[in-house]
Amino acid sequence: MELITDLHTHSKYAGACSENLTFENINQTCIEKGINLISTGDFTHPLWFKDIKEKLVEKEKGIFSLKNQNNNISFILGTEVCTVFDEKGNSKNIFSRAPGVKKVHNCILAPSLETVEQINTELSKYGNLSLDGRPLLSLSTPELVEKLIAIDKNIFIFPAHAWTPWFGVFGSISGYDSIKDAYQDQAKHIYALETGLSSDPSMNWRVSSNDKYALLSGSDAHSPQKLGREAVVLNINKDEVSYEKVINSIKEKAISYTIEFFPEEGKYHYDGHRNCNVSLTPTEAKKFNYMCPKCRRKLTLGVLNRVEELADRDEDYILKGAPKYIKAVPLLEVLSYVYSKGVATKTVHDSYSKLLSTFGTEFNVLIKSDIEKIKSFDPELAKAISSIRSGKIKIKPGYDGVFGVIDILSREPEEKNSGKQSSMFDF
Ligand SMILES: [Zn+2]
Ligand SMILES: [Zn+2]
Repeated sequence: MELITDLHTHSKYAGACSENLTFENINQTCIEKGINLISTGDFTHPLWFKDIKEKLVEKEKGIFSLKNQNNNISFILGTEVCTVFDEKGNSKNIFSRAPGVKKVHNCILAPSLETVEQINTELSKYGNLSLDGRPLLSLSTPELVEKLIAIDKNIFIFPAHAWTPWFGVFGSISGYDSIKDAYQDQAKHIYALETGLSSDPSMNWRVSSNDKYALLSGSDAHSPQKLGREAVVLNINKDEVSYEKVINSIKEKAISYTIEFFPEEGKYHYDGHRNCNVSLTPTEAKKFNYMCPKCRRKLTLGVLNRVEELADRDEDYILKGAPKYIKAVPLLEVLSYVYSKGVATKTVHDSYSKLLSTFGTEFNVLIKSDIEKIKSFDPELAKAISSIRSGKIKIKPGYDGVFGVIDILSREPEEKNSGKQSSMFDF
């Protein structure tokens, strides 16, 4: 009994998101990947909310499906918002670029369409909800929580990609040192945090003040192909899912396991400067006094740096009783690597389709199917999947908005591929 969920998604109305993020495409992608329950994303956006009401039908309390569909994909009402405020916690104009202005992203899940109507009415007082599927709001983070809980105590709020530098609650630029510091008297309503692509549960276990929070993983996908690149697997029967069961499972940390990106592959794992081609480990960044050795300006400090800064435990600490997690690489990327062809090429797409017709879903290929069975499909692919499952792949870590580069079967010569040991000095 397991329910694979993606609780952080967007629609075509969110900034930098693909036109292809329509309900029909999202539904179809969930079938292909094996996602059982997905957030609608962007319910604060008036046009997307109209789509939600027209295209979805409620099948269980707070759980929806696409109309006229004969499959079992469930939707839950969700969105992400960006609160804009200053260091003293005063809300700021959403366009403010004054120094010290903080921006923190939070995900919101809601139990019913009526509740969403009320949320949208309330939040539209603090920003223009039609500008972006992920709206900017002149509110502090505690104010946001207070206002939402006043509408309905069953609204569920969690910080999005908690460690990312610009918009994460612990980020090097906008962040705080703890959930308590960030949410103040409203911290009692926070039960979970999203680890984000650039961090995994074991990195989060190093900070003991986070022990009480459920660690969630969502895709934050900007196109259908990226849905489910991270996911939370709950111990709930697909046919008996309700909003309440999902929220209670998270609150009780009754999570079977999470599916994680390799954190080094995330865009903000290391420190650095994208424009200067400078990528540094936290130790190296410290040596340079956190200044870019090329342009002499402040480095963008990544997730690993912030984790090291806040950690009160060693790197290999294992939190007792914490849910397991599995690291995975999206199948299109794996195929692109195996065949040395671009992700969008016909070779990769044909092979993807063939795999789906043989194995059913992407998650079946990535995490469930017997390696021997994959071997009879393609031995090289089986080798790649097997090294991903064992966690033994090389990655040139991501930094300052640049995704990490994976080398699943160690094809690159050693000096070019620095992996975890040392960083890239490309200047
Ligand atoms: Zn975000
Ligand atoms: Zn620089």
